[in-house]
Amino acid sequence: MTRVFNFSAGPAALPESVLQLAAEEMLDWHGSGMSVMEMSHRGKEFIGIANEAEALLRELLAVPAGYKVLFMQGGAIGQNAILPMNLLGGKASADYVDTGEWSKKSIKEAKKYGRVNVVASAADSGYTTIPPRETWKLDADAAYVHICSNETIGGVEYHWTPDVGGVPLVADMSSDILSRPVDVSKYGLIYGGAQKNIGPAGLTIVIVRDALLGHALPATPTAFDYKIVADNDSMYNTPPTYAIYIAGLVFNWIKAMGGLPAMAGHNAAKAALLYDFLEGSGFFSSPVARDCRSLMNVPFKLKNEALDAAFLKGAEARGMVQLKGHRSVGGMRASIYNAMPLAGVAALVAYMKEFEAEHG
Ligand code: PMP
Repeated sequence: MTRVFNFSAGPAALPESVLQLAAEEMLDWHGSGMSVMEMSHRGKEFIGIANEAEALLRELLAVPAGYKVLFMQGGAIGQNAILPMNLLGGKASADYVDTGEWSKKSIKEAKKYGRVNVVASAADSGYTTIPPRETWKLDADAAYVHICSNETIGGVEYHWTPDVGGVPLVADMSSDILSRPVDVSKYGLIYGGAQKNIGPAGLTIVIVRDALLGHALPATPTAFDYKIVADNDSMYNTPPTYAIYIAGLVFNWIKAMGGLPAMAGHNAAKAALLYDFLEGSGFFSSPVARDCRSLMNVPFKLKNEALDAAFLKGAEARGMVQLKGHRSVGGMRASIYNAMPLAGVAALVAYMKEFEAEHG
């Protein structure tokens, strides 16, 4: 068996030990005589699995009392609609910060449900920066302020938590959740798809302050009403059971690695290796402003894009896959989530050095 270094933006690499354990437990989970995939979500075995996953997530993120953790479906794109349906309440509008492709999608969808004020935008910089907080034109009466903490495509990430006063701060953390500690108390709601740092696609995590529950618009689908999901322990409808099980194994892996402070150190070391190389290179470059470079998704360009195909072919021959940049930005992108080992980034940088020496 040969495993590659998988730089995919998501679904993405998972810790090998997690996959091995899942394989061992595939046919008979803990003597139950069943695979987790075959279990009733209402049976005691699966309820135990789901409770443990939730408890571990709460422990890792130090989720304070007064917040619900929901396991939903529909992805972060589903949340782009579910969120305004649940949080607009009686308010006329919500504030959104536009930092790239994923913010733009959130803004477009929210407009179906209410008025959206784009309070700051990085469009002028070609989405290579995060607009400084002083420039945001916030409305004190907005239902919430929405940010995307890490733009997976553009590779820009907040390295600070915006202070938005008394209005609830909402973040799409799909691509940097669990990569570092976060002060959950500063947020009204955090959401994210699982398929980057958490587990298989199909599971969507929502962490929401209790006070924000119970204000859904009347047309909100029952399965997507946060209060109903919360009141039913995320089992109003059948949850993505296998994805929740794998997420629990990943949470255990993160805990064993030393929790989120250790993850933050591991991720900073990987990103520094790659960005320091890009800084010193005359052939490869990062398009993103230094102070908002993502530690998770590293877009980079070759000096001569005619060599892009040769670069990707050479990478694949060396067991490094999914380095092609998103079609909207071109070039390359290395996604280096929690499960990417330092050795993977070291192998990439060694190959980039070799490629530069040959073609630079
Ligand atoms: N937001 C961000 C930041 C993302 O990276 C993604 C997926 N790449 C999405 C939203 C959409 O997630 P999904 O496809 O799970 O709906």
